[in-house]
Amino acid sequence: MAKVSINLTTGSIQKEDIIVGIDLGTTNSLVAFINPDGDAKVINDAGKGVLVPSVVHFDQNGAVLVGNEAKDFLVSDPQNTIFSVKRLLGRSYQDVAKHQDYFSYKIIDDANDESLVKIKVGDAFYTPIDLSALILKELKARAAHALKTNVSRAVITVPAYFNDSQRQATRDAGKLAGLDVLRIVNEPTAASLAYGIGLNPEEEKTIAVYDLGGGTFDVSILKIQNGIFEVLSTNGNTFLGGDDFDRAIVDYWITQNQLKGEIPMQELRLMAEKAKKAFNHQNLFNEKIEDTFCSIDKQTFEKLITDKVEETIIACQNALNDAGISVSEIDEVIMVGGSTRTDLVKRRVAEFFKKEVNDTINPDEVVALGAALQADVLSGNRKDILLLDVTPLSLGIETMGGLMDTIIPRNSKVPTKAGRQYSTSVDGQVNMKIAVYQGERDLVKENRKLAEFTLKGIPAMPAGLPKVDINFLLNADGILTVQAIELRSGVKQEIDVKPTYGLKDEEVEQMLLDAVTHAKDDVAQRMIVEAKTEAEQMIYTTERFIQKNGSFLNEEETSKTLELVADLKTKAGGDDKDAILNAIDALNDFTRPFAERLMDEAVAQAMKGKNI
Ligand code: ADP
Ligand code: MG
Repeated sequence: MAKVSINLTTGSIQKEDIIVGIDLGTTNSLVAFINPDGDAKVINDAGKGVLVPSVVHFDQNGAVLVGNEAKDFLVSDPQNTIFSVKRLLGRSYQDVAKHQDYFSYKIIDDANDESLVKIKVGDAFYTPIDLSALILKELKARAAHALKTNVSRAVITVPAYFNDSQRQATRDAGKLAGLDVLRIVNEPTAASLAYGIGLNPEEEKTIAVYDLGGGTFDVSILKIQNGIFEVLSTNGNTFLGGDDFDRAIVDYWITQNQLKGEIPMQELRLMAEKAKKAFNHQNLFNEKIEDTFCSIDKQTFEKLITDKVEETIIACQNALNDAGISVSEIDEVIMVGGSTRTDLVKRRVAEFFKKEVNDTINPDEVVALGAALQADVLSGNRKDILLLDVTPLSLGIETMGGLMDTIIPRNSKVPTKAGRQYSTSVDGQVNMKIAVYQGERDLVKENRKLAEFTLKGIPAMPAGLPKVDINFLLNADGILTVQAIELRSGVKQEIDVKPTYGLKDEEVEQMLLDAVTHAKDDVAQRMIVEAKTEAEQMIYTTERFIQKNGSFLNEEETSKTLELVADLKTKAGGDDKDAILNAIDALNDFTRPFAERLMDEAVAQAMKGKNI
């Protein structure tokens, strides 16, 4: 809601910038706001339509078109018409290279930064951030024009499965478009807000949000109580959506008509989309592109997409499992995204959850409307709502022997803060390498490295004496800040973790799966690593002891100690945990009396020198 304030020095009335909610979609984008009555409304500027197709076209002279006008060029000028750019946002070339066939435009490796994908249009190169910014700029201009006010602040939504890198890229695109992005919000969270669930503090509900758009699918299980929205679990696939339904029809026509490239891909794609939409009210589709019949019946269509739809149902089951609840505990199912209008989708989701689905709010608009409500919350107009999300994978650092030490466990609510204290392992150590990892495995090499930095300038002290606090701060957007501080000296270092490339959903799932299947191996492996680490420490201390205090030991004691150290070294080189532990015990047992003797002498020495 726009606020009005009076400037006390000039006496003039100032209208505060409105904060808008933006659904930056793979296929369609739109912007919404809260009107003075407090209702969420989508913006339809000058009757141009609510949905702005997420399509950008460049002409020969570099002039840019966004939205419907750009969409018209999908057929006539596919190389210069960029669609589905959200699929590329925050991703590496490696992530998307295998999908090159799908894009009619050219995606390339960035020569300077191999972690990023770029799009080549004519002689110009664009990043997915540049292109997303063009879409956001169009939305910003439409909102400003329709509302007759400056629009500079926004809440932007992203799929629940977007990782840090994709969220950061979305934020950067907003910045580039001249928007102050106040919050990145998960789409299902926004959708549930739009349905007003949870606004009554007495109400306690568990809901499923099923979002099937053009390019992404996600299902989220939310628990809402006392006006708090908590995401219990999320599941999905950022490479599954209505585009796949279109492609299934296209492939069918290609086989049926034995087409060999006579009809441009884009033309077939648009016709397929038309057929898919027609099946919401008819059973047969029959049209021609030039002399080629594009016909298909609804039954065939449903057979073609069954596997894709079933994949979403499996994801629903997985989400329930992760949340630890059963179908009967779901009070409401919310449908989001244009593809939920497909009959088979609606039927199967209703069947799975054993209840009628909720689709009373336009599934194209529901996310943007919710984003506008979130914007309203941030502008201080609704203090009764709090939003909590969860992090899908554990975050931690590497400790001695390449072990993962989890600091923020998976499924923790965000924003969250956690920390732990560490020390040095070598005398006089002045630098400490801090490597940040994401994943569930015990060994960091099996997890995903997010960042690495070095805490420098720790004052030289004996091993174990410095106290290094490592703090993780995961903000509401899911972006991690890692801070390391040596408490005795105050030496401090901090970084924002922006992973260089994204993790696909399948990879997140695989990582979780691996953690379960390898749990036993991992425990054994961890025990070996811990034994080896202990052995290394023991060897180090003993050698240092002999170096410093060799004169306290007789020849036989020294040689026996060195023999035991050599034996421990050999054992530590192998993988037999028990042998290592036995060698440690042997060395410990043999050297303990010397240490005690040394201590007694030191005390005696100290006493001697003291004046009583
Ligand atoms: P995104 O969130 O990915 O931008 P949308 O929610 O806008 O996607 O959904 C776009 C998808 O919805 C497209 O695949 C489009 O073909 C599909 N869609 C739109 N209307 C219908 C309809 N009436 N029936 C089936 N699918 C539809
Ligand atoms: Mg969407």
